[in-house]
Amino acid sequence: MGVQLYVFDLDGVLYRMDEPIHAAVQAVGRLQGRGCRVFYLPNNASKSRADYVRKLGAIGVRAAEEEVMTSGYALGQWFLERNEAGRTVYVIGESGLLDELGAAGMRIVDYSEKETADYVAVGWDRQFSYEKLANAHISISRGSKFIATNRDATFPDAGGRTLPGSGSLVAALVTSTGVQPIAIGKPEPYTLDLILRRTGVSPDQCMVIGDRIDTDIAIGKRVGARTALVLTGIHTRWDLERYPDLTPDLVLESLAELQRLESDPPSRS
Ligand SMILES: [Mg+2]
Repeated sequence: MGVQLYVFDLDGVLYRMDEPIHAAVQAVGRLQGRGCRVFYLPNNASKSRADYVRKLGAIGVRAAEEEVMTSGYALGQWFLERNEAGRTVYVIGESGLLDELGAAGMRIVDYSEKETADYVAVGWDRQFSYEKLANAHISISRGSKFIATNRDATFPDAGGRTLPGSGSLVAALVTSTGVQPIAIGKPEPYTLDLILRRTGVSPDQCMVIGDRIDTDIAIGKRVGARTALVLTGIHTRWDLERYPDLTPDLVLESLAELQRLESDPPSRS
């Protein structure tokens, strides 16, 4: 059985910042035209699924909200699956995360001396401050459960430079509290597992396509999916040596190569 479901990372795969990668946009359109299922799996929790549908639409990629799996949305689903809706959560994060947790029925609370939140959730937050760090630190010290949307150290910015990612904010809290969070996004398996459960596709009929070995290829390997590294983003061919246990099934210079592979699919090694 061939690949039924393609799961694309976004930044470095379909676009770089706001610049579309045209060969990739065309490849997605061809797959959809052939009736393949396509999902989008960014790690960033600062945007909602609706934000991503708009962003993808603007570069010519057709996407429905239910085909976008962000770590913020996934965190909301994680709470729902555990019957935690209605519990309180102190959030370090941006509007995309607040929207998704609110939609999942979580009660988003400010820090209070009187009442300790059930959870502290941490995602990317460009208004991060010592005050927020202290609030989260005290809450966790008093027993709030510590959840991270993802632990990405950096975030790609324009001109090839990087900025501190959610993982750097999470690390500050790990250092102060000594507590390790439950992490939701890539490379943890939860988000991809949720996509597979919702589509009913088996892992060996799913291909994950991404530009980072330590997140995109890693999550694919962890659930037993096929994996393709595309060299249009963060990692290069030389980075493969640094991750000997995470060799992808395919390494593509560009997603233009996907067309050739669709007509002549490689057998699984
Ligand atoms: Mg990426």
